[in-house]
Amino acid sequence: MPMYDPVPRASAWIPMFSLFIVLLFSPLAGCTQTQSTTEPQDESADEPAPPISSNDLSQTGARAADDGAPMPLDRSVSLMEVGVHPIESTSASSQTFIEQALSDSTGSRISNLDARVDSLLAQMTLEEKVGQMTQLELGMITDRDTFPQPIDPEKLRRVIQEYHVGSILNVVDTAFPLDHWHEVVRAVQDEAAETRLGIPVLYGIDAMHGTNYTQEAILFPHSQGMAATWNLDLAEEVGAITARDVRASGIPWNFAPVLDAGRDPRWPRFYETFGEDVHLTTAMGLAMNRGMQGPDIGAPERVATSLKHFVGYSGSESGRDRTPARISDIELREQYLPQFQAAVEAGAASVMVNSGEVNGVPVHASHFLLTDVLREELGFEGLVLTDWLDIKKLVSLHRVAENEREATKMAIEAGVDMSMVPSDVSFFENLTALVEDGEIAESRIDESVRRILRLKFALGLFDDPMAGTELADDVGSDRDRHVALQAAHESVTLLRNDTTDTEDSALLPFSGSERVLVTGPTAHSMQSLNNGWTYTWQGGGAAQDLFHEGRPTLMEAVRERIGSDQMTYVPGSTLTRPDRLEEAVSAAQEADVAVVAVGEGAYTETAGNLTHSLMLPNAQRALVQAIADTGTPVVLVLVQGRPRTLGVTHEAADAIVTAYNPGTEGGQALADVLYGDVNPSGHLPYTYPSRPTGYALYDHKPSERLAADFSEEGAEPLFPFGYGESYTTFEYSRLTLNDSTLTTSALQDGATVDVEVTITNTGDRTGQDVVQLYLSDEVASVTPSVRKLKRFAKVDLEPGASETLTFQLTQDDLSFIGRDAAPVVEPGRFRIQIDTLERTFTVSGAPIR
Ligand code: BGC
Repeated sequence: MPMYDPVPRASAWIPMFSLFIVLLFSPLAGCTQTQSTTEPQDESADEPAPPISSNDLSQTGARAADDGAPMPLDRSVSLMEVGVHPIESTSASSQTFIEQALSDSTGSRISNLDARVDSLLAQMTLEEKVGQMTQLELGMITDRDTFPQPIDPEKLRRVIQEYHVGSILNVVDTAFPLDHWHEVVRAVQDEAAETRLGIPVLYGIDAMHGTNYTQEAILFPHSQGMAATWNLDLAEEVGAITARDVRASGIPWNFAPVLDAGRDPRWPRFYETFGEDVHLTTAMGLAMNRGMQGPDIGAPERVATSLKHFVGYSGSESGRDRTPARISDIELREQYLPQFQAAVEAGAASVMVNSGEVNGVPVHASHFLLTDVLREELGFEGLVLTDWLDIKKLVSLHRVAENEREATKMAIEAGVDMSMVPSDVSFFENLTALVEDGEIAESRIDESVRRILRLKFALGLFDDPMAGTELADDVGSDRDRHVALQAAHESVTLLRNDTTDTEDSALLPFSGSERVLVTGPTAHSMQSLNNGWTYTWQGGGAAQDLFHEGRPTLMEAVRERIGSDQMTYVPGSTLTRPDRLEEAVSAAQEADVAVVAVGEGAYTETAGNLTHSLMLPNAQRALVQAIADTGTPVVLVLVQGRPRTLGVTHEAADAIVTAYNPGTEGGQALADVLYGDVNPSGHLPYTYPSRPTGYALYDHKPSERLAADFSEEGAEPLFPFGYGESYTTFEYSRLTLNDSTLTTSALQDGATVDVEVTITNTGDRTGQDVVQLYLSDEVASVTPSVRKLKRFAKVDLEPGASETLTFQLTQDDLSFIGRDAAPVVEPGRFRIQIDTLERTFTVSGAPIR
C-alpha cells in the first residue's frame, strides 16, 4: 500500500502557507466548504499516481450573486388545482404525536445484527477499519471537468481498494439527474463489492427541503416554513417523500433534520431550523425523523437520518456562522438538548457534530459533549460523524491542536466515529499511524467501526446496496407536488390585514378585479423562494437552470390568474439597489393595489453572514415607502430566510404576509392566499423582532422586558411568536382545569393537569387555527421564562363549528432545569394561557428532583 506522508514535504509548505494566509484574511475564512489545503503527496516510487485530493473549490458551487439571478419574463407557467390537500388535518395534540413517535422508534429487521458485525470486524485489518471511518466527497472519485461528473475509475479504485474508504458524500457542483445518480452510486458499490470483504459504501447527502440534489425531485419549504405550518402529519409526509427520493437516487443516508435552535435570526442557517421554540422544534424534528426513517431504515423507501449539528451550533454570540457560543449548562439543557434527546430516543441513526466551539472548546474536541452528554446522558448508540473539514479545522481555525495528527487523536478521543475529511486521505493516514504507534487503542477503533457496520447492515446495504432505485419513477409525482403546495399554503402567514381608506373591508383577499402592480426583488425570483441547498450548495449559479418548468414565481402566478392586462410588473429594486424605482412608482399610481415582495436571495452557511445588520436593505425599504406614498394600498410580502427588521417601513403596509422560503410551489401558494382560494393558517415559529438589536424571544426572562425608560415595553416584538391571522375569526372559550391544587407527590404518582378549551370558528369561512398552550411558572429558583409553549394542535373548522380539545400536562411539563443543571419541579403557582384566556393552579409539597 502506498503511504502518504501526513506531514507535507518542504516543497508543499510554501503553497500551504500562502493558502493559510489567504484563508485567514479572506472573507470566507472559516467557510466550511472551501479549498482543500492538501497538496498531492504521493510517495510511491514506481507508479506516478494521480493526486489523491480533489484539490478544488467547494463541492456544490459558488455563492449566489447578491442581487439574485433574473428569471426570464416570458416563461410560460401553469397553476395547479387548488384545494387538493393530500394530508388531512387531525387536530391531534403535539404531545400525542410526540408520544407516538417515541413509542414507534425505528428498529432494524436484520437478524443476528451483532453477531454479523462481530464476525466481519474480526476479519478486518487495521487499514480496512480506519477506511470505514473515512468519508470523502464525490470530487475525490470523479472527473470534475465534464458535467455531470463521471466516475474516474482509477481514482475510484484507489479510494476504495487502497484506502478502503467506507463513505462518500454529496454532489460535485450541481444536482444530478436520477440516471446519473444511479451510475455513480452503482459504480461505487460495484467497486466496493470487489474488495476483499465486500463491505458496501455508505453514501450520504444533504436533502434539506426535499431531495435538493436530485433534479427530478420536488422541493418543499425549508424547515422554518414547515414549522410555520405547525402541522406534524404534513411534516412527517414531507420527510417520507424526501426519504423515498433520496433512496430512489441510490443514497441511503440523509444529513437531516437540523435540530439547531433558531434563537438568533442573524444566524445564516436560521431558515434551516424549526424556529425558536424547543417544544415545536422537538415535535417537528420527530415528525421529519419519523418520516425519513420510518419503522425500519432497511425499507427501500427509508433512509438513515443524521441529527445536526450536535450541539449548540446556533448559539454563536456574534450571530455569524461557526463563531463561538457560550452556553450555560442550564441553557444547554433547556434549549439545545431536548430535541436531540427525543430524536435519539426515537432511534435516529446518526449525529453530525457542530463545527463551532461551545464555552471555549471546539465540539469536535469535546469529550464532555460527544461522550459524557451524547453517549452517556442521552444514551446515543449510533454513528457520530464530523462536519466538513472539521478535524483539520481543530488545527487551522480553532488552534487547539498543533497538527492534524494531534487533531485526529483529539477528535477520536472525544467520540467521533467517522471523519468527513473530505478532500484527501490525511485522516486515514493519521489514524492508522496513531494506532500503529500505540497512541490510540485498536479497541477504540473497533467501537466506531462496529457502529458503522451496524448501520450498513441495518440499512440492508449488504443485501442490496441499490435498494430503492426501483422507486425512481415515483420521484416528482403530481401527488408530491400537491403535498409541496399544501405545505407552502399552510406555511404562508398573514401578519396584518387592515381595512383601507377606500374600502371598509380588509385589504385581503383580493376580489380579482383589481389592477395590480407587482414589484420588489423577490416577486420574480425562484432563488428567493428556495434559498440555499437548492440544486447547488448556495442555491445560486447553475441552480437557476434547474427549476422545474412551468412552476411560477409570485409575479407569474398573479399574472396567470388575472392576465397581463390587469397586472404590471416592475422590479423597483434589486436586493440592494433601486431598479426602475420611478417606473414602479408611476405604475403604483395607475394600480388599485400594490404587491411589494421584499426579502433575501439565496445563501448557505458562512456565505450568508450578515454584512451589515438584520435591517432589510435600504433600497428595499425605500421601495416600500415610495409605493405607499402614492396612496395605493400596499400588501407587503416577505420572502426571506430570517426575519429582516423593517424599521418604520412596516407602517407603510396595509397588509403583511410572510412566506419564509416556501420552495418551488411558493409562488402559487402566495397568489392563492392573496386571492383567497386558500385561507392562510401559518403561524410564526419565531418572534418577529421590531429592531435589529436588543430584541427578546417569546420565552424571555422577566428582566429582559425593561426598556430605556424603565417601563416594561423593552421586549415588544413586531409580531410575537405563534402569531398568524386568518380570513375567518376564531373565539376561544371554556378554558377549564381538572384541578387547581396538586401536590408534588401526586404528580410523581402520575397525576396530570388536564386542560380543556373550546375553539369556535366565528367567521364565515372555513379556516385552520393553531391552538397554543403556554405555561408560566410564576416564581422559581432559576429565573423563569415569562411563558413556555407546552402543547399545540392545528384545528380545521367550518364556519360556526366548534371543537373542544383536552391537553394533559405531566410532571415533566412543570419542571425546569435547576441550579444544579438537573430538572426540578418546585411548588408554587403556575399559569396556563391559551389565546387570551388564563387559569392558574398551585402545586404544594416538597420539590421533585
Ligand atoms: C454543513 C453540514 C453539511 C455538510 C455536508 C457542512 O458544511 O455544515 O450541514 O451536512 O457540509 O455538505
